[in-house]
Amino acid sequence: MSNPPTVHLKKPLERSLRAGHPWIYADALSAPKGLSTGAVVDVVDRAGHFVARGLYDARNPIGVRVATLDAKESIDAAFIASRLERALKSRRGVIDSETTTAFRWCNGEGDFLPGVVVDVYAACAVVRLDGDAVHVWRDWIVDAIKKLGRGLGIAHIIERSRNAKSEVLFGGAPSNPIEILEHGVRFAVDVLHGQKTGFFLDQRENRRLLRDYSDGLVVANLFAYTGGFSVQAALGGAKKVVTVDSAPGAIQSARDNFALNGLDVDAHEFAVSDVFDWLSAQHRKREPYDLIVTDPPSFAPSQKALGRALAAYRDLNAEAIRLLPAGGLLAAASCSSHVTMELFLETLTDAAVKARRPINVLEIRAQPADHPTLPAFTEGRYLKFVLCRC
Ligand code: SAH
Repeated sequence: MSNPPTVHLKKPLERSLRAGHPWIYADALSAPKGLSTGAVVDVVDRAGHFVARGLYDARNPIGVRVATLDAKESIDAAFIASRLERALKSRRGVIDSETTTAFRWCNGEGDFLPGVVVDVYAACAVVRLDGDAVHVWRDWIVDAIKKLGRGLGIAHIIERSRNAKSEVLFGGAPSNPIEILEHGVRFAVDVLHGQKTGFFLDQRENRRLLRDYSDGLVVANLFAYTGGFSVQAALGGAKKVVTVDSAPGAIQSARDNFALNGLDVDAHEFAVSDVFDWLSAQHRKREPYDLIVTDPPSFAPSQKALGRALAAYRDLNAEAIRLLPAGGLLAAASCSSHVTMELFLETLTDAAVKARRPINVLEIRAQPADHPTLPAFTEGRYLKFVLCRC
């Protein structure tokens, strides 16, 4: 093979790259003029030594995503297939296919395939490609999923893009929604129009955990989406579950998911509401809750927004704590990659101070094993889930 074009590091990043950090920001690179997005490039240090091979993006703040540190490895169809095969193998023993039919097959950087997310929902694989450069891999990815996914019974492949559009890449449109099992619980997933790839697979183990804590409790699930935490709480014996989300479609799906699991929809409450409005209304009503889940969308889309985001997490959780009696439970989550676990625990401390309540931490959790991360890549560890006694 002829050597790929070379881009030069302007900053001393070689150590961090060799340690496995897979991103190089554009301002740390000098690239030849006219290099096109999606080109495979060799990254060299200031002495001209090979450091990494990756995909170049002329328009993204992340100028290169590293694909390999091995100068002998070519970036081709066989490379993509071997990375997807390795990722799939590592799901063995992690996902019990008898009781769980939806999982993340490939977690991008965390599976050494930067920018490539593949989620499996029963017979449908949903691909999400992060950044324009990785689109050059699309046909190779589809071919590899077709071949490797035979054993899983994959019959459809669709792509979800950032603007929430969906495109069928193989097998025609699946009959939608798709029914999946998660630890034996049934959920209908709208893979064509739902948020992200259809379901928040990263909360699977935390939803399962909530079930163990819910017996006999009145539970409020705030930012509920299609009611994942709610269904688990109800199946765990919750006396009543209140499911709150601002999206009417999500709340309708939450009702459907209760019914799908044989739960009495009328014994529970479903509210299409802004969570902050809902919280103020509860304070006026003084309704008692025993367990409240807060799982908002990312409050910190950028490092610049971090200060405001931390205050927002604090205020939201302080409001929730105020609704709980002494001994009540708060399950607080954050999916902002800019908020580290340490910072999130600080915001919960601040929330407790604001609510004038002592809290202690029962469980600290992150993403499950089908969402692997890299030790050197803190950006990949975005999910925090903390269960507190208040
Ligand atoms: N816990 C869910 C995932 C939550 S995703 C699960 O396990 O599946 C975040 C949800 O918050 C989305 O469904 C979105 O519609 C909702 N949302 C965003 N802003 C909101 C607001 N201000 N009030 C109520 N819901 C909101």
